[in-house]
Amino acid sequence: MAALLDAKKIIKRIIAETGKSEDEIRKLIDEKKRKFAGLLTDDGAAFMLAKELGVDIQLKTEKPQVVKIANLVEGMRNVDIVARVLHVQSPKKFEKENRKGRYCKLLLADETGEITLTLWNKDIKWLEQNKVERGDTLLVKNCIVSSFNDRLNLSLGLNSELVVNPKDVDTSTLPKAESIALKIADLSEGMRNVDVFARVLRVFETRGFERNGEKAKVTSFEIGDGSATIRVVAWRELAERASKLYAGELIKIEGASVKSSANGLELHLDWRSRIISDPKTDLKIPELAELTGIKYKRRDIKELEEGMSNVEVVGEIVDINKGNLIYYFCPTCKEKASSETCEKCGNKARARAVVTVILDDGTASIACTLFGRQAEVALGISALQLLEEMQNKSTEQLLDELANAVVGKMLLVRGDVRRHSLNPEELELIAKDAMKPKLEAELANMLKSLAEPRSGN
Ligand SMILES: [Zn+2]
Repeated sequence: MAALLDAKKIIKRIIAETGKSEDEIRKLIDEKKRKFAGLLTDDGAAFMLAKELGVDIQLKTEKPQVVKIANLVEGMRNVDIVARVLHVQSPKKFEKENRKGRYCKLLLADETGEITLTLWNKDIKWLEQNKVERGDTLLVKNCIVSSFNDRLNLSLGLNSELVVNPKDVDTSTLPKAESIALKIADLSEGMRNVDVFARVLRVFETRGFERNGEKAKVTSFEIGDGSATIRVVAWRELAERASKLYAGELIKIEGASVKSSANGLELHLDWRSRIISDPKTDLKIPELAELTGIKYKRRDIKELEEGMSNVEVVGEIVDINKGNLIYYFCPTCKEKASSETCEKCGNKARARAVVTVILDDGTASIACTLFGRQAEVALGISALQLLEEMQNKSTEQLLDELANAVVGKMLLVRGDVRRHSLNPEELELIAKDAMKPKLEAELANMLKSLAEPRSGN
């Protein structure tokens, strides 16, 4: 049930329940406001006073009311807020005693102030599914006001509800979200809290790093929007999210910082940043083929011939070939190294995944050799995890386990067709990109090819 939130109504209720005079109550309210150095409104001070005097200020009706942020007081329940989303942080994982899950903080504002809304587990899913972005309006129904580190915080209870961009609510008085999305070409060193709409061009492997005793991960990827391209570096929590991106995907990045590196400008993403897939936007971002100048042509596997480049096939993984799973690559010499230390330059080489899978699309099958990130996508496991697994089991055993996990899964591979290096009677597809196919897109493709029979066949 909602509470009375209007000073006049609360004063009436206090008079009725305590017999104090209105003057006396006004004085107490003024004292409260002085004590809080002008931070409390009349409504807030009256609310606190009623609580102290043990006066029940619950409304007798169930109807919640929209409350301005400046009038919120710790302990309020079932209040409704209408606010602008100023910032959404990346969800963070937590693990405490036997509980684990995710939480995520949003900074909300109306014309009277700002407040943090903390969401947990299933509400974060809602946030992701509804692609809530900066600048959206949020109606938070039946929320709870608590305090954390002396700051008020909103959270949701069992009967709470979130509505993004509500239709029948007046939002004209809400402040605007300050940041506007920028073109990549307009980014410059030192910019912070930047938003960008772009297409993913390629994703690099996730790497581990150690800094001040902390072990964490980082994933880099490249994006383009038609104005320029830039490398993006996603740290820690966001590294895993970034590793699931694929070439061609349209994304929005929120809250990035622009830094300069030896290779030019980079966008850095940390816990304050976010990646949104398929964002709501009217911006026309060029397609992958236009951005990279490479157009991959979808083929049936039986059509593949030696020397074809930039083909795309989709099929089921029917087998994994025997192999080492890991090879070493020297980033300095830019070539294969025989062990963890490069024999040429003496620098540390990097472990990369490698695998050959047999792909079958119903017309034929072909061996696809995948390196690095492509192999990780096909196997569903990173080179780092492969190395860990290999510490306590043989490569054969690991291959068996991986085969069990991936045989039967669908994979989309883009690359070039060569004669098989070990088996010259057969063809091999050398992967440049690999991803899990999007089922809806595949279905649409299938229907299209059924409707218009291919020429030449
Ligand atoms: Zn080297």
